[in-house]
Amino acid sequence: MHFLFQRYYFFTQMKPLRIIAIMSVTVSVMSCGGQKKDEKTEKDDFKYLTEQFGDSKILRYQVPGFGSLSLKQKKLIYFLSQSALCGRDITWDQNCRYNLLVRRTCEAVYEGYKGDRSSADFKNFTLYLKELWFNNGLHHHYSTDKTQPEFSKGFFVSALKAVEPSTLPLAGCQTLEQFTLELTKIIFDPSIALKRVSLDPSGDLVLASACNFYDGVTQKEAEEFYKNLKDADAKAKKDTRISYGLNTKLVKVNGRIKELPWKVGGLYSPAIEKIVFWLDQAKTVAETREQKASLEKLVDYYRTGSLVSWDEYNVLWVTDLDALVDFVNGFIESYGDPLAMKAGWESVVNFKDMEATRRTKIVSDNALFFETNSPTDAQYKKKEVKGITAKVITVAQLGGECDPTTPIGINLPNANWIRSEHGSKSVTMDNITYAYDQASLGNGFLEEFAASPEEIAKIREYGYAASSLTTDMHECLGHASGQLKPGITHDMLKNYHSSIEESRADLFALYYIMDPKMEELGLLKSLKAGEAEYDAFIRNGLMTQLVRIKPGKNIEESHMRDRALIAHWVYEKGKNEKIVERFSRDGKTYFRINDYAGLRGLFGQLLKEIQRITSEGDYQAAKDLIETYAVKVDRELHKEVLERYKKLNIAPYAGFINPSYEIVKQGDSISDVKVIYPDDFATQMMEYSKNYSFLPVR
Ligand code: ZN
Repeated sequence: MHFLFQRYYFFTQMKPLRIIAIMSVTVSVMSCGGQKKDEKTEKDDFKYLTEQFGDSKILRYQVPGFGSLSLKQKKLIYFLSQSALCGRDITWDQNCRYNLLVRRTCEAVYEGYKGDRSSADFKNFTLYLKELWFNNGLHHHYSTDKTQPEFSKGFFVSALKAVEPSTLPLAGCQTLEQFTLELTKIIFDPSIALKRVSLDPSGDLVLASACNFYDGVTQKEAEEFYKNLKDADAKAKKDTRISYGLNTKLVKVNGRIKELPWKVGGLYSPAIEKIVFWLDQAKTVAETREQKASLEKLVDYYRTGSLVSWDEYNVLWVTDLDALVDFVNGFIESYGDPLAMKAGWESVVNFKDMEATRRTKIVSDNALFFETNSPTDAQYKKKEVKGITAKVITVAQLGGECDPTTPIGINLPNANWIRSEHGSKSVTMDNITYAYDQASLGNGFLEEFAASPEEIAKIREYGYAASSLTTDMHECLGHASGQLKPGITHDMLKNYHSSIEESRADLFALYYIMDPKMEELGLLKSLKAGEAEYDAFIRNGLMTQLVRIKPGKNIEESHMRDRALIAHWVYEKGKNEKIVERFSRDGKTYFRINDYAGLRGLFGQLLKEIQRITSEGDYQAAKDLIETYAVKVDRELHKEVLERYKKLNIAPYAGFINPSYEIVKQGDSISDVKVIYPDDFATQMMEYSKNYSFLPVR
């Protein structure tokens, strides 16, 4: 829940969000203290965009500063990046039980196919495989709908016959015919594994979801199981603050429901053993005592599966502030579970960008001011705001759920009690954001959808600074703000929790980006920057984010619901005063803001209500808000937006090729680590599949 995705995106997205409104003009980046840092004026020479297929594009990112790290730090990054890669199969298997089977089969065909590789079928097959890689499985990473193949069944059947059988993941007792039948069914039958995460409250969320967190268990049974577990723990005076169900699969065996933990010796053991191996290596070059302790605890957790150890690890991790190199590694986010309990595996390896971190420090140093002055009810404010640390990082490696599509910011840990007692770490991933910017230069999106040339000019001048700052505030103020009533937990909002939580963080940031305090603290040179942010947010929430929705579909993804909720709510509440106005020009729809201060007031009102809903665990109110404002799509406008967007020929989602790290040895010891930038997505995916496949396909 504490992933930040780019908020409104003009062009590119991964899981994302923010629009980075930069065309091929000079980009001025405000650093903290109000100084202006001139960024590159043109595209730099590095090739950011490598290819585009389906609705996706592939980008690369650079790791500036890696060369000047110490050898010890470079080794640490190397070991952690190996650990990050070792969890890849876990993500695949968690997303759907058929994923590894389908991937290995398709990779065998991709490598061994002897027929005409320039045929339409083979090209469509290759496209399908790229989409599998991009999505870590059969389902679109964002919509969670199953990807439909465009190659023919006949082609697939004959391709399986033509490849060397030993390269196929045939189960011992299966004939090639049985295998072929099973695989064609999984891939072509739309009734199998239709949706990865169903959020449709009219059905059983667990049974309607193809994610691999439950087996033979209904939603009701799962909810009862965890309620009973918690009650029993409370009776036995055990720690009930743990994240129940976070690292287990819930199954029914002989009529009995039980948890199978993901740990060494449990499910996913072959991959987790490798993750642990590299974490053990990392321990030997830890930068600080705290970092070493946190790595030890993380290994302990992977060995035992104990959620108490997991919390202890997070406390250690969140208090390790001095090390330059840092990492995320574990079962972290629960977006992939319709009940928001089970966490997907992910890893991000990074190091601090000292210069840019100064900006976020100003934000977090003033956290108490923002909390005290926010429009929320006094009873739901934190009385003191502890240890919110914010930093800007340079990403060195993405893994698991964060690869190839990645957030641009992270705020962890997720456990509320740790956040309030020990604080949280909040990061923005600057080299990733920058890669987005560079790749989107000059794609025409802003010209098409902005309401006026003035709006475009404002975005060009202030957009990057405003959106970076909004990201910071979303992460290190928004998610960290507010408190729950005693006895209330976030899971009470169930399937609406993630959207409500993201709206809360967005509203907090939106409310303050237009606050005079921004200028006073030297974070923005003008509140015009706040206006640019408002323009972009409204345009995105009411209109342009629809480019990521297929015709006839509703909005499902949490961050999109969050933005739709906010934008539609303020549009409706301010309709009489025309605070936000819809108009058309040359038959095209636009939105413009007539009253920025009025809009800020509305953001404040909604923030107050969303905080109340969160603090009171008011499920019904959350449901009403989301179902009224955040789900349904204006079909006519949707059609228009898709047509306008199509003409621009921009892929709405982006994924990344990771850099790779090469060891230089002198004798037996490592004398240096070099970073290289591969430029072919398929090659990297095949390499990962060869070198980091540790789990059985079934
Ligand atoms: Zn967030």
